[in-house]
Amino acid sequence: MHYIKEGRATADYILHSDLNCFYAAAEINDRPSLKGKCVAVCGSTENRHGIVLAKSYEAKKYGVKTGQANWQAKQACPQLIMIEPHYEKYLYYSRLVRSIYERYSEYIEPFGMDENWILLPNLDGVERARRIADEIRNTVRSETGLTVSIGVSFSKIFAKLGSDMKKPDAVTVISRENYKSLVWPLPVGELLYAGPRTTRKLGDMGIYTIGQLAACPESAIREKFGKNGEMLRLFARGEDGASVARLGYLSPIKSVGHGATCARDIQTPQEVWHVLYELCQDVNHRLIRHGFLAGGVSLYIRYSDLEGFLFQSPLSRPTRCALEIASGAFGLYLQNREKGRPIRALSVSAIRLAGENRPEQTDLFGEAERSLRLRALGDAVDALRNRFGERSLVAASLLSRAPIATDRCETVPMPRALTGAQKRRMK
Ligand SMILES: [Mg+2]
Repeated sequence: MHYIKEGRATADYILHSDLNCFYAAAEINDRPSLKGKCVAVCGSTENRHGIVLAKSYEAKKYGVKTGQANWQAKQACPQLIMIEPHYEKYLYYSRLVRSIYERYSEYIEPFGMDENWILLPNLDGVERARRIADEIRNTVRSETGLTVSIGVSFSKIFAKLGSDMKKPDAVTVISRENYKSLVWPLPVGELLYAGPRTTRKLGDMGIYTIGQLAACPESAIREKFGKNGEMLRLFARGEDGASVARLGYLSPIKSVGHGATCARDIQTPQEVWHVLYELCQDVNHRLIRHGFLAGGVSLYIRYSDLEGFLFQSPLSRPTRCALEIASGAFGLYLQNREKGRPIRALSVSAIRLAGENRPEQTDLFGEAERSLRLRALGDAVDALRNRFGERSLVAASLLSRAPIATDRCETVPMPRALTGAQKRRMK
């Protein structure tokens, strides 16, 4: 948007601020003895097949990469100190840093736990935006001990590209004057939402750089990629026109759960699946709203005699897909069910929450890609349900009968006081 302020033209600028090596930096910040060492935060450190989620710059020099299997990282860097993730710590720092951004704008939009867009409205030039970005960068470092890299631009997409260009603790300005020389030579796959498949298909058309996509006739892109292609082309041209969401604050959430008391007692695995799948749609909806992935699932079963049991287990990968969460919950039910004992109520929680841009495991057997597709599918289903109502889309497996669940409600958190017997049964 452009304005005239006291006779001078002003404009909105957008910052994209990205915490550097976030998980690793937060761990090092809390344990100064780790400073200057090769550190990696890894999923399941006891398991050599866990993956690297974040690494220090020192570890990076040895070739440790995000998404790499633990054993590969250890091979590349034998002195690597592996730490398991502490998501509550990351949520704490994420909030702390966001509270600094709040001093500068009320338009702050998170993208996962470590990235935010910040709108600076009505400034009289890009230099003013750069000075504010520098001030934010210095404040984050001195008040939290963490560093950010910030992109400053007139578009959200370019601001995000800018935050990637200089790291750590740096500011990059992508202005209307320099974007063609800074952005257009970059590979088209660097654009937000240009996934591997799209990038491959663009390559088939001879489009390898962002500049080539920007220059491509709209009709050619529309023909091959439809609406999404048109959007991507606008991104490449700096014409995304997306606005930064106003600060809608997220409370620190440890789990996202939904429960239902069934209209009648249920007994068969199929009935249980129906209820779980429905609950997981709601759980998933809230994961999307809060920008989280589920790293695990917990299931609470209450029998008709009102005795209840809580079970939990990690998911094979962080996910935001109702089907995957429901499958995890259903697996817990199958392992622990007591045949013939009627169930009165069920609740499911997504636990071990992680930011949504947590890296995917390297593409083993296409699993990671499948998971990303499922996540995209989950988002699409959720968007339709938001727009057209909860019943607008129902999984085919749910169509066979009227819904069983009644009294669906948010359950935050799961029951706290557990008896000894219940604790023993928790996985
Ligand atoms: Mg980051």
